[in-house]
Amino acid sequence: MAESVELPSRLGILPFRNKVLLPGAIIRIRCTSPSSVKLVEQELWQREEKGLIGILPVRDAAETTTVGTVLSQGVGSDSGERSSRIQVGNSDPQKADGKNQQEVIHWHTRGVAARALHLSRGVEKPSGRVTYIVVLEGLCRFNVQELSTRGTYYTARISPLEMTKADMEQVEQDPDFITLSRQFKATAMELISVLEQKQKTGGRTKVLLETVPVHKLADIFVASFEISFEEQLSMLDSVDLKVRLSKATELVDRHLQSIRVAEKITQKVEGQLSKSQKEFLLRQQMRAIKEELGDNDDDEDDVATLERKMQSAGMPSTIWKHAQRELRRLKKMQPQQPGYNSSRVYLELLADLPWQKTSEELELDLKAAKEQLDSDHYGLVKVKQRIIEYLAVRKLKPDARGPVLCFVGPPGVGKTSLASSIATALGRKFIRISLGGVKDEADIRGHRRTYIGSMPGRLIDGLKRIGVCNPVMLLDEIDKTGSDVRGDPASALLEVLDPEQNKTFNDHYLNVPFDLSRVVFVATANRVQPIPPPLLDRMEVIELPGYTPEEKLKIAMGHLLPRVLEQHGLNSEFLQIPEAMVKLVIQRYTREAGVRNLERNLAALARAAAVRVAEQEQAVPLSREVHRFASPLVENRLADGAEVEMEVIPMDVNNHEISNTFKIASPLIVDEAMLEKVLGPPRFDDTEAAERVATPGVSVGLVWTTFGGEVQFVEATAMVGKGELHLTGQLGDVIKESAQIALTWVRARATDLRLAAAEEINLLEGRDIHIHFPAGAVPKDGPSAGVTLVTALVSLFSQKRVRADTAMTGEMTLRGLILPVGGIKDKILAAHRCGIKRVILPERNLKDLVEVPPPVLGSLEILLAKRMEDVLEQAFEGGCPWRQHSKL
Ligand code: ADP
Repeated sequence: MAESVELPSRLGILPFRNKVLLPGAIIRIRCTSPSSVKLVEQELWQREEKGLIGILPVRDAAETTTVGTVLSQGVGSDSGERSSRIQVGNSDPQKADGKNQQEVIHWHTRGVAARALHLSRGVEKPSGRVTYIVVLEGLCRFNVQELSTRGTYYTARISPLEMTKADMEQVEQDPDFITLSRQFKATAMELISVLEQKQKTGGRTKVLLETVPVHKLADIFVASFEISFEEQLSMLDSVDLKVRLSKATELVDRHLQSIRVAEKITQKVEGQLSKSQKEFLLRQQMRAIKEELGDNDDDEDDVATLERKMQSAGMPSTIWKHAQRELRRLKKMQPQQPGYNSSRVYLELLADLPWQKTSEELELDLKAAKEQLDSDHYGLVKVKQRIIEYLAVRKLKPDARGPVLCFVGPPGVGKTSLASSIATALGRKFIRISLGGVKDEADIRGHRRTYIGSMPGRLIDGLKRIGVCNPVMLLDEIDKTGSDVRGDPASALLEVLDPEQNKTFNDHYLNVPFDLSRVVFVATANRVQPIPPPLLDRMEVIELPGYTPEEKLKIAMGHLLPRVLEQHGLNSEFLQIPEAMVKLVIQRYTREAGVRNLERNLAALARAAAVRVAEQEQAVPLSREVHRFASPLVENRLADGAEVEMEVIPMDVNNHEISNTFKIASPLIVDEAMLEKVLGPPRFDDTEAAERVATPGVSVGLVWTTFGGEVQFVEATAMVGKGELHLTGQLGDVIKESAQIALTWVRARATDLRLAAAEEINLLEGRDIHIHFPAGAVPKDGPSAGVTLVTALVSLFSQKRVRADTAMTGEMTLRGLILPVGGIKDKILAAHRCGIKRVILPERNLKDLVEVPPPVLGSLEILLAKRMEDVLEQAFEGGCPWRQHSKL
């Protein structure tokens, strides 16, 4: 900043409209008008560093009506100096170029001399007009003596206004000035500190305060504020230093205050914002904590709801008292307290249990019930008859304590569906409780509530789910419960099934008696033997044997097929399975006593058909596409709405063709090829037995499993060894002993049977015998394989094959007597299924043949044996050739 400036007596003048340039201020302007361009060119550009111009504020003449140029008196002049009004022509310097519009210009009488800190000259394209960008620095004030024009721009004769050095020194001694300048500096300092704090700028401005004379500082500070034109003019007019300082102090102070107010407001707003934000955060946290603790207000409502539910549950009065005690305890507890939750879950159970709620019992119509049973099940005449009897008794005496029905039979024979038919006939809800694999008494009776994770037993849980206290409850697979260290589920079941005891069934979890006497119990089992006798004693066993292939065919055609088609969304328009094909499925793909696999295979065929139908449906949109091109009408419809629900069939399109595209061409008729494609190659055929017995040492037995009767092959072979007997095929003790007996018997009869040349020859001399029961992974036990074992051994030693069409069953004593065995009906059915033509049975089993369906019996040759020799006689082709030599 220049310390002192030598002002010339005349200065080129650049008018500043409504704007003041104060000494010390720096401004960047762009000069485009010819007059200012000329001024800059001649006064600054050409003179380079020596060039000075005068900046003179002019006031807009909006209010003035006088035409001409007015040099106005300084506003707020402090010194009483006179300013003159000078007429200086009639054109506005800014608009002098080409515009004759006359305007009054109020020239201020004081201006500021300025020099160019930076000059840049540019040429506008395409006009070629020269423009300047000038950075000007205000230097010192001057007074205008006379304003005149030079060429296109104004010039003024001027006189300097700033004090001389001597004057300055004199003023600096003035105590007023000293006070004023101190005051100004203090205020300015304060402002700088505030600004520095705000903008974090360095202390460059503070240095200014130390080095620059105070009167110049006043101008510099004020120049940086945004103040009104009037205030700017008044600052310009403050030639007197004291006046200037006090004015500047006032302005700086004002600026400071305004900054402070603004800051306060911001702080306040910020404070408010953060306060509300903080509150929000805290509230969120509080809610999360409450939720975590389970301590929300909803609990109150929950307990109230629970209480209401309990009131309407219809508990007996003693139980209601117990429940209320528990509820009172719950109310006293905090939700976060241990035990609160278990107490609540317990009360929920009490409230949910159907203490009184029953499903409305319809007036039992026996005829309708019979029809229902007949329509649901084919055959089973005796079983259905027994059910009707059972229902009849219930009709006459609704609270009759008749025995519990227990359906016994292989899987898939209709035990469950019969039980559900009973429920339908009685108009009650049906619930199935699976007892398969239940070994823990707690599964039936529940765990005491003292245990963590304790819960009610399956019966109480089932009643809660079904929501009525008089359903038909199926205790499924009651023979599969076992007892171990965890108690005996069967004894718990005893209580359930005993009409005397089940009025007050005590579930350990529930801890209050529940009346089960209105439940109708039905049980199912695969076998009778594993059911503990006391339990069996409370039930009436109804046996359901397996079905013959003919019965299966009827069931398949009459019941399974329609149901399967319906389940897959098909009907006979889409899929037809001819009877011959169902027969093939029964023969080649299923060899079970029940019909579950048969149903599964039919479902596989239906699925395959469903895929085809679904694919054809997909083809439909494609045909629409074709019509779109053929018919503009359809095209329009399709274009209008993306979703065209209705098909538009225009008159000119062949209707017949279209209807064909929507129709499945023809129903899918299942043939043998499709059977193989869908179900795979046949799993069973009648040649199996012939193939298996093709070598000596193999015999065909009939056994009984949980899946009903089955054909079981027994294989025996001999090899070099020390006379040992090896047995494989997961055999139980009884069957192992049977094998031992069989071998002993054969060895004892070796000469009679012509297996050895002389009595003293040891049949096992130098060889071991190995007997294997194929399907080695399936555990086998039971005495009924005795005759089969002997036959296999005789076949092995004699190297004679047994008849492939003959199967046998029977227990043999050590002396060769044949004892009767169980499961004759199932075994004969199995033999029939497997294409066996002759069956050898113990003579004493003759009575069991009445159970066998006559068609099956008619298709088989039944051979009764009293002794082992009788069996051997029938088992080998051409009889037993050694018999006549036997001394037995
Ligand atoms: P289980 O309980 O004996 O194992 P399900 O009762 O579940 O067997 O029966 C299996 C399927 O066979 C069911 O779909 C059932 O309807 C059907 N079914 C069994 N026997 C017959 C029958 N005699 N008449 C009609 N459908 C039967």
